Amino acid sequence: MARERRRTLRAPDLLAIPLVGRYLRWRHARTSAQVVLLLMALVLSYDGFFGPPLAPKNVAGVLPWVHWRGLVVLTLLLLGNWFCFACPFLLPRRLAQRWFRPQRAWPGRLPGKWVAVLLLLVFFWAYEAFDLWASPFLTAWVALAYFVGAFVVDGLFRGAAFCKHVCPIGQFNFVGSLLSPTQVTIREPAVCASCRTKDCIRGRFSPQGTLLQRGCELGLFQPRKVGNLDCTFCLDCVHACPYGNVGIRLRLPLHDELDLERNRSGIGPLTGRTDWLLLVVGLTAIGFLNAFGMVSPVYRFLSWLARVLGTANEWLLIAILFAGGLAILAVTVIGASWLTSRLARRGSTGWVARRFAYTLAPLGFGMWAAHYLFHFFTGALTILPLAQSFVRDVTGRALLGEPNWQLASLFSLQTTSDLVVLVLGLGVAGSVLWTLWLGRQEEFTLGALLPWIVLHASLFLFGVWLLGQPMEMRGTLLG
Ligand code: SF4
Ligand code: SF4
Repeated sequence: MARERRRTLRAPDLLAIPLVGRYLRWRHARTSAQVVLLLMALVLSYDGFFGPPLAPKNVAGVLPWVHWRGLVVLTLLLLGNWFCFACPFLLPRRLAQRWFRPQRAWPGRLPGKWVAVLLLLVFFWAYEAFDLWASPFLTAWVALAYFVGAFVVDGLFRGAAFCKHVCPIGQFNFVGSLLSPTQVTIREPAVCASCRTKDCIRGRFSPQGTLLQRGCELGLFQPRKVGNLDCTFCLDCVHACPYGNVGIRLRLPLHDELDLERNRSGIGPLTGRTDWLLLVVGLTAIGFLNAFGMVSPVYRFLSWLARVLGTANEWLLIAILFAGGLAILAVTVIGASWLTSRLARRGSTGWVARRFAYTLAPLGFGMWAAHYLFHFFTGALTILPLAQSFVRDVTGRALLGEPNWQLASLFSLQTTSDLVVLVLGLGVAGSVLWTLWLGRQEEFTLGALLPWIVLHASLFLFGVWLLGQPMEMRGTLLG
């Protein structure tokens, strides 16, 4: 453990890079990034409510579903959770905190991630049931609902209740950031050991008691923070620490998260967190279901289901598809856990599940990333005609030139297909390596780990099959 700590401490620190570090240490760095995304959200909402109804020609039909999702997963994989850093939904929420000065704690009856898990399920069901990706108008409503949600929740409850307990996007980013190559962490443990004020979590106050700088609202105490879970990269701890002892270190993806028994500040040991476990398993299942929802076999399956059940109610059929997919993965996880506990002659089914089910996270995120990157790579260049057409619609003049709607893909379809399979492959590699690492810690034989390796391999092959199907070219006019 000490060796791991030393390795993290020696890793390069983004705050030490001349221009980057200077920008990130700037007090208004986060606000400046949020303002940029807020302007984009305003353009998106305006076009969604008042622009053309055809999704590929509307900012709200393309920007969130092609560019934003693709860039989120790419950034998580290559840089870190910088989209939470730049989250525009938190700007109005800051006003709510200032106006209402909420003192109430988040209700103890809704602990952890339960609300967020429920919202994730509802959101992705609604995404398929209402074809959100094809409706700029509904997409604009979703964006508005997000702003209102953050405003109301953080106007009612103190701290970062919305980020920690409610925001489905945030939970997605937290799980994805397991694979990120950066983390906010302390520089020198000895400095923290002698620190009396603990401003990184308490915040910094003037002698009169006025809050000068927030501490970590997510409840992550730097010296005991482990990995990236629950960290929004808000950098409040960086600004609050009076000794400049918080940095943003490069690291190996998954490096600090491997050990599930570690007591994480603000979270506890992951083996004791059923909500986190369901979040990981649920996100993995929905990741595959969401990709399944855009290939042609899903339509054949839904028509078959409609004939068998004698109903054409699409909302019900999609709910059944979702429930079925979640149930299949849950039963498979329970089956793999039972087999491993029998083969290893150690622990109960639940004990194994509370450890090994987390190893689905890299593969699950790999599926999300492969799916979102497919849309991004096949539609990235649509941003040019989209901007041209938006400016023409708003000003009545083609100030940026006439849009060329043939512009779409970054790469050829073959290169895109190869790249997304590679991303899924990295995901399954992460899952298998994590399984082997846990198995070594518990001194399990390879045979006892086989149920998990077979599960990861089967999901990977299913993912490759999904990615090989003709997919809907969302956000472009070329499909
Ligand atoms: S990170 Fe800074 S404020 Fe927090 S305990 Fe360490 S030295 Fe103190
Ligand atoms: S204040 Fe908390 S959430 Fe923000 S960067 Fe620091 S540890 Fe992460």
